[in-house]
Amino acid sequence: MKQMIKRFNGNVNVGSFNIVQKLANLGYWEFDHIRREASWSNQMFEIYGMKSDFSMTIEQFFEFVHPEDRQRVNEQFHLAIESKKESVSEYRIVRQGGEVRYVVENITFIRNAENEILLTIGMIQDVTDNKKIQHRLTLEEQLYKSIFENNPDAVFSLDAQGRFLSCNSVLEQVFGYTKEEIINDSFHKFVDAAALDKTIQYFEQTVKTLNPQNYDTTGITRTGQTVEFNVTNIPIIINKKLIGVYGIAKDITQQKMIEQSLTETELKYRSIVEQSIVGIFVAQKNNFVYSNDQLNKMFGYDSLIGMDIIQTIHPSDREAVVNQLTKLQEGHSLSNFCHRAIKQDGTIIHCEVHYNQVSNMGEQAIVGVVLDVTDRSKAEELNQYLAYHDYLTEMPNRRMFEDQLDKQLRVSEYFKQRLAIMLIDVDRFKYVNDTLGHPIGDELLKQIAFRLMSNLRDGQTVFRLGGDEFAIIIADVKQQNEIKDMAATIIRLINEQFLIEGYELNVTASIGISQSPGDGSSVEQLMKNANAALYHAKSRGSNQSQCYSASLNVQSFKLFSLSNDLRKAQERGELFLHYMPRVHSQTMEIVGVEALLRWNHPDWGLVAPSEFIPIAEETGLIVSIGEWVLREACIQHKRWQSLGLPSVTLSVNFSVQQLLQQNILHTIDQIIEETGISQDRLEIEITESSFISNENAVTELLLELKKRKIKVSLDDFGTGYSSLYLLKRLALDTIKIDRSFIEELMTDRRNKSIIECIIQLAGELGMQVVAEGVETKEQFNYLREQRCDEIQGYYFSRPVEPDSIVQLLSRRSCKEPALFMPSKEVLVNRRKSFRIDLKHCLLAEMTITMFKGSSVKLGSTEVFVRNIGPGGLRFMVGVKLPVNSDILLMFKTKILNQMYVLFGFIVWYNELGKDIYEYGVQFQLKEKQQDELVNTLNFLAIKQRDGMLPQTQVYVGDPILRIKELKKHN
Ligand code: C2E
Ligand code: MG
Ligand code: MG
Repeated sequence: MKQMIKRFNGNVNVGSFNIVQKLANLGYWEFDHIRREASWSNQMFEIYGMKSDFSMTIEQFFEFVHPEDRQRVNEQFHLAIESKKESVSEYRIVRQGGEVRYVVENITFIRNAENEILLTIGMIQDVTDNKKIQHRLTLEEQLYKSIFENNPDAVFSLDAQGRFLSCNSVLEQVFGYTKEEIINDSFHKFVDAAALDKTIQYFEQTVKTLNPQNYDTTGITRTGQTVEFNVTNIPIIINKKLIGVYGIAKDITQQKMIEQSLTETELKYRSIVEQSIVGIFVAQKNNFVYSNDQLNKMFGYDSLIGMDIIQTIHPSDREAVVNQLTKLQEGHSLSNFCHRAIKQDGTIIHCEVHYNQVSNMGEQAIVGVVLDVTDRSKAEELNQYLAYHDYLTEMPNRRMFEDQLDKQLRVSEYFKQRLAIMLIDVDRFKYVNDTLGHPIGDELLKQIAFRLMSNLRDGQTVFRLGGDEFAIIIADVKQQNEIKDMAATIIRLINEQFLIEGYELNVTASIGISQSPGDGSSVEQLMKNANAALYHAKSRGSNQSQCYSASLNVQSFKLFSLSNDLRKAQERGELFLHYMPRVHSQTMEIVGVEALLRWNHPDWGLVAPSEFIPIAEETGLIVSIGEWVLREACIQHKRWQSLGLPSVTLSVNFSVQQLLQQNILHTIDQIIEETGISQDRLEIEITESSFISNENAVTELLLELKKRKIKVSLDDFGTGYSSLYLLKRLALDTIKIDRSFIEELMTDRRNKSIIECIIQLAGELGMQVVAEGVETKEQFNYLREQRCDEIQGYYFSRPVEPDSIVQLLSRRSCKEPALFMPSKEVLVNRRKSFRIDLKHCLLAEMTITMFKGSSVKLGSTEVFVRNIGPGGLRFMVGVKLPVNSDILLMFKTKILNQMYVLFGFIVWYNELGKDIYEYGVQFQLKEKQQDELVNTLNFLAIKQRDGMLPQTQVYVGDPILRIKELKKHN
C-alpha cells in the first residue's frame, strides 16, 4: 500500500495547534483509512529532522526507526490496527543526520457506528532530553548509593536534631543494630558517655556554623564495647537551609591502640634513658649532644653537652678509646670495653662502655652506655686476690704457685738455669689439729708462715699449698748446697718453739725438693717428684729434707704410689678383711677374732696395713675406711652366727681420728642396728696414742661404749707410756701386750718380768690380758703358765679369710696349733741354668726402672744377693715388692772388678721375718750380656771355692740384722 504523507490540513486552528505541539515537542499524525492518506503535523517534521514538504510512504517512515527497534515498532503498529486497540510504545528514531532520539508514540482510532476504523491517530513526543536527565540521575543515584553503601566507614545522615535519617551497613555492623533500630533514633545512644558532651558540641557546631567539623570520639556498641572513631560532620544544605548533617565515622580503634602504645613506649624509653642508673649519651663528631642525668652525675658535671668525649677519659686510656672509636666507625660495635674516666673533681672512676654507631638526623652519631664499675673493679681485684691467696695466712696459694712456677720454668729454660721447688710439710700437723683443736692449728700455721716468709731472699715467695703444706720456688740455683742450706735453715726455724695460747709447741717439718731440668721440666712433673721426695723425707722420720732424684728409693716410691691410689682403693673394692683368732690359754677355745685390713693393690699386690694405714691416717681417709671395716666385720660376724657357730668376740681396730669423729657413736649405733650384731660381742681396739692428748673426749666415748656393753681393748700395750692406773680410769676391758715383748720373751729376761708384772696388775684391776705375736710352743707354754688370759699369734693361726674361720670355729678349739698357716705365696724356682750360692751375700744397688710401661727415675736401695746365675738371682731386702712383671728392677753390682747392670722382674717371694723378704728374680738380658755373665760367674764359682772374692761387693755378716738396722735408720 502506497500512501503519501502530506501536511496536516484539518479544520482546526492550525496556528495555535502548531504552537502547542512545539511547546510540548509533540508531533501529530493521522491516517485516513477511507482515503488511505496520512498526514503529519509540522512538529512531526521537526522531530524527524526533515523539511515539512518532504513526503514518503509509510514504509519509508518505518525506516526512520532505529534498526534495533524497527521490527518491534512495525509489529506493534499493525497489531494495534488489527486489534483496533490503542497502544503506547517507546522507541528510538534515527534522524537523517544520524542523530538518535527517543520518542514515545500513542496510537488511537476513530471508528464509525459499525466499529470500523475511519482514522488512526498517532502522537509522537520526543523524550530524548528527559531520557538523558533520567539516565544521569540514575547514574548519580547509583554513584551516591555506592559511595554510601560501599564506604568502608560508617556513613549516615542525621536531621538537625540529631536523629538518624539514614545509615549504611557498616554502621549497622559496627554498632550491632539493624537499620530499623537506628533510623529515627538519636546519635546520643551510640556515643560513649565519656565522649558524649564533646560529640554533641561538635554536632551543634556543625548545625550552628554550617561548617564541617572533624573530631575523635568514642562510640559504644550494642554489647557495650567502645570503639574509637574519627568523625566528620558535614551540614546538608538545601536551598541555603540546613536540613540535616551528613556524617562519616572512621573506626580508628586499632590506630589509637598503636598510637597509645607508641606513646607509652616512647614514655617508657624516655624514662629509661632519663632515669637510668647507667649513663647514656649521644655524641656526634666526638662531642656529647645528649647525656642523661646519670652520666652527668657519674662524671660530676651539670651537663656534658658540647664537651669532647675524649676530655672525660683518663689520659693513659685515651689512645685505646680512640682506637675503639675508629673501629666503631668501621662498622664494629663496641661492648664491654673498660677504661678509666676522670670526673670533674679529678677523681678516677672505672667505666665499662658499650657503644653503637647510629644515624641521627642524617648524621653519624654514637649512642653510648656507660657503667660505673669502680666498685666492681675493686671487687674483682679482691676476688683476684682471694683466688690467688690463702685466706688464713694471706700467703699466695696453690693456684698462684702453679702459675708462678709455670712462668719461672719457662724463664729458667730460656736462660738455661736450674730451678728448684721445695715442698715443706709440717710433721704430724693433723695430730696438733686433732688434739689441740683447729684454732690452735690455724695459729700455728700462721706463725710458721711468718717464719718462712722472714727467711726469704729477695724475689722469693712462700706459697701455702693447702693444709700444712708450704712451697718455695728457688730460681737460678747455682749450687746444690744452696738448697740444702736453705732447707736446713727452714727446718731449724720451724723447730724453734712456738707459743700459742699458753701451749709450748715443738714442731718438726719435712722437706721434699725437686729441680728442673733434672727432675722434670713441667709443673706436674716437678710437683710429683717433690712430693715423692717429701714422702721419702717423711719415711725417714721428722726434720728431714730430701732431694728427689738423689736418693728416693724403692720404698718411698712405693709409699708415694700407694698414697696416690688409696683414695680409689675403696671404690674399686681392693680392700678386704682377714680374721685372726684369739684363743683362751687354758681351754684352748677360740674366744674371739680380730678383723685385720688388707689391700690388694693392682701393681704392688697384697699391701700390709702397716704400709697404708699411716697413709690413710695422714690423709684422713681412715675415717671412711674404718667405717667400712666395722660394717664389713659386723656383717661377717652375723653370717657366722647364722651358720650356728659359737658367738665369739669380734675385735675391730680403731684409729685415733675415728674416735675423735663427732658422730662416731651415731655411726657405731647405726652399724650395730643395720647388721644386728649383739653389742656385747663387739670389741674396739684402740692404741695409747688415742688418749694421750684427748683424754677427756676419749674417756667420755669409752663410757658411752660401756653403756652399750661394747668392749674396749688397748692394743700394742707396752709400746706407749701409759700407766696401768690410767688404763683403769679409762675403764678398759682388755690389754693386748705388744708382739715385740713376746718376740724376745725367751731371750730377754727383762721381758719376762715385765710380762709377769703386767699380767698380775691387770688381774688386780679386773682387766683381761691378751698376748699378741705368739709364734712358738715355748712362748705359748710360758704365757699359759703365767695365766695370760688369751693368746693370739701365728702359733695358732695366721690372719685368714672368713671361710677358714668357719672351719676353725666349727672345731671350736685350737688344740693343734698352726693348722691354719695358709700357704705363702712362694713360687717354685724353676730355673734351668746353674746358680752360685754365695757364702757372703753380694751387695747390689736395686732400683725400679720401669713401672707399668713407663720409666721411672728413683734412687736405689741396698739389697743382699743370696745366689746368682745367668738366668736370675735371689735377693733379700726390707721392702715388700710384688710378683709383677710390670715392675722392672735394675741391679748394679761389681763382680770381679766388673760393673754389672742387670735387669729383671720378681717371679716369687718369701717372707723371712717381720718386713724382711726374699725374692727370686728372672733376668731380662741380651744374649751377649748373658754370655759375659756366664763367664764371670764361672770365675766367681772358682774363686769362691778358693775362699776369696777379689774386687767384688760382698757383705760379710748377717744380712737380716743389717736390714733391720737399716730400717731403724730410715
Ligand atoms: P694389730 O692390731 O696389733 O694387729 C696385730 C698384727 O700383728 C697383725 O698384723 C697380725 O698379723 C700381726 N700378728 C699377730 N700375731 C703374729 C705373729 O705371731 N707373728 C707375726 N709376725 N705377726 C703377728 P697386720 O695384720 O699386718 O696389722 C698390722 C696393724 O695394722 C694392726 O696391728 C693394726 O694396728 C693395724 N690395722 C689392721 N687392720 C686395721 C684396721 O682395720 N683399722 C686400723 N685402724 N688399723 C688396722
Ligand atoms: Mg689390733
Ligand atoms: Mg697389736
